[in-house]
Amino acid sequence: MFKIYNTMSRSLEELIPLEDNHVRLYTCGPTVYNYAHIGNYRAYMFEDLLRRWIQYKGFKITQVQNLTDVDDKTIRGSRESGKALRDYTQTYKDTFFEDLKVLNIEPAEHYPAATDCIPEMIALIEKLFEKGLAYKSDDGSVYFPIDKFAEYGKLARLDRAGMRAGARVDQDEYDKDNAADFALWKGYVEEDGEVVWDSPWGKGRPGWHIECSAMSQKYLGKTFDLHCGGVDNIFPHHEDEIAQSEGANGCLYSKYWMHNAHLQVEGKKMSKSEGNFFTLREILEKGYTGREIRYELIGTHYRKSLNFTFDSLNANRAALARLDDFYAKLQEYIGTEAEAGELPSWAVEMETRFAAALDDDLNIAGGLGALFDGVHAGNKAFPMDPKEAAAVSNLWKKLDTVLGFLEPPKEEVPSELIEMAEARAEAKKNKDWAEADRLRNAVAAAGWIIQDTPSGPKLKKA
Ligand code: AMP
Ligand code: ZN
Repeated sequence: MFKIYNTMSRSLEELIPLEDNHVRLYTCGPTVYNYAHIGNYRAYMFEDLLRRWIQYKGFKITQVQNLTDVDDKTIRGSRESGKALRDYTQTYKDTFFEDLKVLNIEPAEHYPAATDCIPEMIALIEKLFEKGLAYKSDDGSVYFPIDKFAEYGKLARLDRAGMRAGARVDQDEYDKDNAADFALWKGYVEEDGEVVWDSPWGKGRPGWHIECSAMSQKYLGKTFDLHCGGVDNIFPHHEDEIAQSEGANGCLYSKYWMHNAHLQVEGKKMSKSEGNFFTLREILEKGYTGREIRYELIGTHYRKSLNFTFDSLNANRAALARLDDFYAKLQEYIGTEAEAGELPSWAVEMETRFAAALDDDLNIAGGLGALFDGVHAGNKAFPMDPKEAAAVSNLWKKLDTVLGFLEPPKEEVPSELIEMAEARAEAKKNKDWAEADRLRNAVAAAGWIIQDTPSGPKLKKA
């Protein structure tokens, strides 16, 4: 039973999809106005662990992650750069997908861009007009009247008594104290330049919140299972999404809500506006690998704040080396044995404890504890029976479908060494032992070891 902490109920609940075995997940994606910082990647890493665990549990998944390529921030950025909005955001879309690969984050099934879904947003606003949940102001903008939606504030648990009926807020981002009628559609202003669409209410552009309501509905339907984002999204973004979607459709929007805590630097949320951020590429330039950063971002429970330090990144190297040593030893003992036998009891215990921890609202600390205890026990179990080692190696690969950092990085083997290893195999076949030894020694002199496996010779760094 997989239990998750549902922000809506503020309690642990079992994840039971609405549609038999299929989990439909919406995760708020990047605003592509700059390189995403590793705080953003903490959110996407949590969602990656979540989707991987959902699949491990045997569910099918459909995940939608949007790209916010039109909002206050992207328009401001494109103006400042002197580029057209589309060209300006394309750079950051491209680097976002490159970063996902570096961090080994599994791709979502759909990545809709807001600018490709404007008709869906307009249709949703029209529906809100029909229901009396939208009104036009003198400047051509359209607002959502929060006092007309009785459940407004249910996710963030706002005090409705303190709300100022009729007051309006124009910005996409604002705090709880400024809860007010929010913009569904922003009437055209000169600063928007060429960023403009026609609508039944005149020229303008969508508000940020309506984008996610429309994009989730387009790919997941009016009601879906699970909606995620960082805690900063609870208000106003997710509260406003609920008001728009439930107001327009008259049915539940998302069954569960999960929110990750922030990545912090010296006690403060890492953010562009604070200027205390590192982009992924900045950290890679310092010589850290995507795998080390992945390990750092995944290793703290998603609801606990994570303090980012380079000391901790450095410490990860030792932890990963320990895992790699264990895996390498397993491969040695497997030798040429391809068939896996029974798992030894310490490995069964490792898997059971790992699964119990992850089932408990993705308790990754417990999961990693089980893994390292398993490695400790496994190291004492060498020399290992080859069939047993093969079974443990398979378990390792299975756990890596969840963790995504267990497989050691592949070393690029120089092509001339591969040729020498193949020539050696040929020499052995011809019983030319002297030539085989000569080639093995030549490869060793270059710092590599030849391992004979059923699928031919493999090279490993000495
Ligand atoms: P944005 O591009 O600002 O819309 O943010 C994209 C996602 O990253 C949202 O789900 C945010 O909640 C999340 N996020 C932003 N800053 C942080 C941070 N410092 N730590 C964790 N998540 C963050
Ligand atoms: Zn969103």
